[in-house]
Amino acid sequence: MMAIANRTAAVIGAGFGGLALAIRLQSAGIATTVIEARDKPGGRAYVWERDGFTFDAGPTVITDPACLEELWGLSGQRLADDVTLMPVSPFYRLNWPDGTMFDYSNDEPALRAAIAGLNPDDVAGYAKFLDYAAGVYREGYVKLGHVAFLDFASMIRAAPSLARYQAWRSVYSVVSSFVKDERLRQALSFHTLLVGGNPMTTSSIYALIHKLEKAGGVWFAKGGTNALVRGMVALFERLGGTVRLGDPVAEIETRGDRATAVRTQGGWRQEFDAVASNADVMHSYRDLLGGSARGRKVAGKLAGKRFSPSLFLVHFGVRGSWPGIPHHMILFGPRYEGLLSDIYKNGVVPADFSLYLHHPTVTDPSLAPEGHSSFYALAPVPHLGKLPLDWESFQESYADRIIAEIERRLMPGLRERIVTRFHYTPVDFARDLNAHLGSAFSLEPILTQSAWFRTHNRDDVIPNLYFVGAGTHPGAGIPGVVGSAKATAALMLEDMK
Ligand SMILES: Cc1cc2nc3c(=O)[nH]c(=O)nc-3n(C[C@H](O)[C@H](O)[C@H](O)COP(=O)(O)OP(=O)(O)OC[C@H]3O[C@@H](n4cnc5c(N)ncnc54)[C@H](O)[C@@H]3O)c2cc1C
Repeated sequence: MMAIANRTAAVIGAGFGGLALAIRLQSAGIATTVIEARDKPGGRAYVWERDGFTFDAGPTVITDPACLEELWGLSGQRLADDVTLMPVSPFYRLNWPDGTMFDYSNDEPALRAAIAGLNPDDVAGYAKFLDYAAGVYREGYVKLGHVAFLDFASMIRAAPSLARYQAWRSVYSVVSSFVKDERLRQALSFHTLLVGGNPMTTSSIYALIHKLEKAGGVWFAKGGTNALVRGMVALFERLGGTVRLGDPVAEIETRGDRATAVRTQGGWRQEFDAVASNADVMHSYRDLLGGSARGRKVAGKLAGKRFSPSLFLVHFGVRGSWPGIPHHMILFGPRYEGLLSDIYKNGVVPADFSLYLHHPTVTDPSLAPEGHSSFYALAPVPHLGKLPLDWESFQESYADRIIAEIERRLMPGLRERIVTRFHYTPVDFARDLNAHLGSAFSLEPILTQSAWFRTHNRDDVIPNLYFVGAGTHPGAGIPGVVGSAKATAALMLEDMK
C-alpha cells in the first residue's frame, strides 16, 4: 500500500468501527487521532471490573475473525500477537419453556441429529436453507458488505441479486419455507436480533449470519471482548496513532462545505484534513453538526427513521462454577412473534421474555475470582421513543424477574449464590453512548433503511466528512461495523491521495 504523507484525520468514537477505521488510516500513513468521550475505548464493547469480576458490556459472539486479522495484516502484523481468540462450541444452546434443548454448532452430524430430534423431515429443509444462506452471504457480505453505497445507481446494481434471493421477504418467512418445526424456525431466524432486526421484518439477506458463523466459527477473546478492543488500540498506537479518552467531542466545525476542526467539551481543539464520526448518527448530525444547516437537515430526516430497540442487561457474579451451562444460551419465551411485536411495535415491556444468557467463565475462568462465575442476561426491550419508561425505578424489579426465570429454568438456587449484580438500561445507552432513543443497534436494519438508504459513509454535501459504525452501511454487529470501516477507509484514502 502506498503511504499517504502529511495528511491528518480525526475519528470521533472508539467503538469497533472507529478503531478499525483508525487502524486502516494510520496503516496508510495518515496521522490519525481517535477522540473518545468515555474513559475507556470500546463503545458498546465497554468493560467493567467489579469485585474481582470482569463484565463485558456488549458483544460476546465474535464471528468472521478474518475481518479482524485483516487489520493487523495491513502492517504485516498478527492479531494472535495481541489477542488470543478461543473457539466456542456449541455456538449456542437454545432452550424452550417445554424443556427442549437444542445445540447449534458446525459439528454437522451432531447438528443433523439435533434437527432430526425436533422434526426428522426438517433435516433436508435445513440443508436447502444452508444453500440459501451461502448465497446471500456471497452476495450480501462478501461482495457488498464493505463497499459504500453512495448513489442510487449502486442500489440498482445490487437489485438483481436482491431479487434473486427475494430480499423483500423476512428471514422468518424464508426460514419457514424451508423448515416446519416452529422451534427450528425460531432457532434459524433469531440471529437478526443480534444486529437489532426483528426476524419477522428484517430482510432475508440477513440469513447470511448463518453462513458467517459456519464459515468462520464462533470465537471469544481471552480476557473478554474488551481485550480485543485493547488489542486494536495497541496496534493503532504502535502504528503511531493517537487516542484521546474521556473528553467528548462538542462540535465538528465546518467552513463552507468543508469540515475543518474538532472541538471537545474540555476545550481541546484541532484542525484536520478529514473528520469521521463513529458516534451515533443522530448525535453526530443533530448535536456535533448542529451549528450547520446540513446537520439540522439530516437530523430532521433521521428523526423520521425507525431505530432498533434497546436492551436491558443484568450482570451478575455468582459463587460456584456451572460447567453444564455453555457459553451462549437463548431461553426462548412462550411467544415469539407476539413478543417481538410488543418490543418493536407496541412499545410495552412484556410479562414474558426471551433471554440471551452469557457465561464467559466457562471459556475463560480468569474473568471471575477463584471458585466464582460471571454471567449476563439480556432482554430486548422497546427503545425510549416507543416507551419512555422510568427505568431507574423499574430496573430492580425487572432484573428480579429475569433472575427468577433463569433460576426456575436453569440454575436452581441462583439467588442465594449471587455476590454482585448491576443493570444496564435503555437510559444508560442514551446517556453513556449518546445513543438516539437509547437504541442498542442504531437504525433498524430493514430493507428500506439498508445500503444506500442508510447514513452514507461519506456525507453527500460535506465531502471530507465521513461516517463509520452501526448507523452506516452495512450495519451493526462486529463484522458489520468492521466492514463499514473498510468501506469508509477506501473512500478516505481515495479522497486524500
Ligand atoms: C449488549 C449487546 C450485545 C451485542 N452482542 C453482539 C455480539 O455478540 N456480536 C456482534 O457482532 N455484535 C454484537 N452487538 C452489536 C455490536 O456490539 C455493535 O453493533 C458494535 O459494537 C457497534 O460498534 P460501532 O462502531 O457502531 O461503535 P459503538 O460501539 O457504538 O461506539 C461509538 C463510540 O462513540 C463514542 N461517542 C459517542 N458520542 C461521542 C462524542 N460526542 N465524542 C466522542 N465520542 C463519542 C461512544 O462513547 C462510543 O465509544 C451487541 C451489542 C450490544 C449492545
